[in-house]
Amino acid sequence: MAEKVVIIGSGPAGWTAAIYAARANLGPLVYEGSATWEPNRVNGTTPLGQLNLTTEVENFPAWPYMDNAVLGELAKSALPPERYEFLSHFYQGKKAHHGKRSVFGPELMEFMRQQAVNFGTRIVTDDIVEVDFKRRPFVLKAREGQTVEAQAVILATGARANYLGLPSEDRFKNNGVSACAVCDGALPRFRNKPLVVIGGGDSAVEEGTYLTKFASTVYLVHRRDQLRASKIMAERAVSNPKITMKWNRVLDEVVGTDADGVTGVRLKSTTDGSKEDLACTGVFLAIGHTPNTDFLGGQVQLDPKGYIVLTKPQRTWTSVEGVFAAGDVADNYYRQAVTAAGTGCMAALDAERWLSH
Ligand code: NAP
Repeated sequence: MAEKVVIIGSGPAGWTAAIYAARANLGPLVYEGSATWEPNRVNGTTPLGQLNLTTEVENFPAWPYMDNAVLGELAKSALPPERYEFLSHFYQGKKAHHGKRSVFGPELMEFMRQQAVNFGTRIVTDDIVEVDFKRRPFVLKAREGQTVEAQAVILATGARANYLGLPSEDRFKNNGVSACAVCDGALPRFRNKPLVVIGGGDSAVEEGTYLTKFASTVYLVHRRDQLRASKIMAERAVSNPKITMKWNRVLDEVVGTDADGVTGVRLKSTTDGSKEDLACTGVFLAIGHTPNTDFLGGQVQLDPKGYIVLTKPQRTWTSVEGVFAAGDVADNYYRQAVTAAGTGCMAALDAERWLSH
């Protein structure tokens, strides 16, 4: 029997779609991604999406600063012990805003996942690696070989962090070069050492600010003389005494040895081409994202950057009837947790209405 709705992806778009589809009695099946396939870890495409790789989320509505211990109790009450386990370390130690804080990304995602489970969502912890959208029902193939048929599909696979593509950057991946401060920042090699963050958007300032917990100094390297990040986050970064801005510069080369990993960077000025060497033990890339659409094999219309094209205004329809898209995989503009959740809701409603015709 074909599934009514299969949802691919497990960020805010995927779980919100699942909550709505489950409550509409569509019995959604979510492929949340593989937790064990190593390239997912390196690329930041593990289950629960990009929010699972962030720290505090201050702009998701309904999460004002709260007492950290209260948030711990909330998580304990909402989640089964095996899922609470993933979060338990958050409830120890000193917290930013006088003991209070907003929700953390991984916490928000566990709560969304659980909310979908509460209404009967079924979950497979694997990636979909191939689709056949020419057949009805659609056929989806998972990495571990499972095949599933679906009457409707919601694509919510999000986006992943970009790298610059320098050979030296590739050489030191996992040996000092990272695109995820939250995943790797606490490693011993980064403690009390200078670190470099490349980029000027919200991700760069967030990663830079987070890394000040471990680093002796964080150099924030940006190719212009003005940050793209939102004002409040940019001001926090620029006024942080542990962050040194390196304006009008790009990464020319990552320097190091196989034995020691990264030992420094060579920066190049975007104004006069001059070069400058900095000693550091880590380089964190935060230069934007690429949508996770390769597995679609060209069967859904994409824009030149690889984002899914939505074919009807104000709807989540794609170029294939019965296939809907939500969240960052189809959004090169807003890319916020709350907009992803909103479009996840829309995709579930669109799928429900399409299935009932
Ligand atoms: P982004 O806003 O696209 O910023 C990418 C940054 O990288 C830009 O400053 C860009 O420089 C720079 N860049 C791009 N390619 C480069 C290259 N080849 N060499 C050097 N620099 C390069 O991406 P993002 O920071 O990942 O943010 C993505 C979205 O997520 C945004 O909508 C953001 O608001 C959101 N986000 C929000 C939060 C939050 O609110 N807590 C946290 C993280 C992300 P230019 O400025 O010169 O183009």
